Amino acid sequence: MKINVNQIPLEGLTLEEQIDPCSLELETELVKASGLIKVKAGIAKITNAVTADVELNAALRITCSRCLKEAPVMYRTQLKLSYLAEPREPEINMDKDIREYIMLEYPIKTLCKPDCKGLCPQCGKNLNEGGCSCAIT
Ligand SMILES: [Zn+2]
Ligand SMILES: [Zn+2]
Repeated sequence: MKINVNQIPLEGLTLEEQIDPCSLELETELVKASGLIKVKAGIAKITNAVTADVELNAALRITCSRCLKEAPVMYRTQLKLSYLAEPREPEINMDKDIREYIMLEYPIKTLCKPDCKGLCPQCGKNLNEGGCSCAIT
C-alpha cells in the first residue's frame, strides 16, 4: 500500500486495498494465505508527520505447531505506522513495515486453537481427537 504525502487532504483519508500475499512475501512454512489480505488504513498528516492506522484482515491456513494439523484462522490485527513527510520523496510504501509487523506477530499464532492438546509424545496420536492408551508419566 502506497501513500502520496502530497495527496493527503487536511481531514485525512481512508485507503482500502487488497494485497496479494505473494507481494508481501508473507507465507512461511507454517503459515499460508488462502486469499487476498485486506488492508484498510486511516491516513492523517500533521505538519510533516504522516500517521497510518492500519487494519489487516486475512484468511490464513496455519500448520499447528503442537498437533501439526492444518487449520484455517482469521488473522486480524491493527498497527500504527508513522513517517516523516518528505516533499521531495512524496511516495511512502508501507508494505515493508506491514510485513515486518506481521512477521513479528506470527509465531504465537500457529496453534489450531488456543488449548490444542497436541500429539502424544509416545504414539503420536492427535489428542484433540480423543485420548490414547499410553500411560501418562
Ligand atoms: Zn493443534
Ligand atoms: Zn499415546
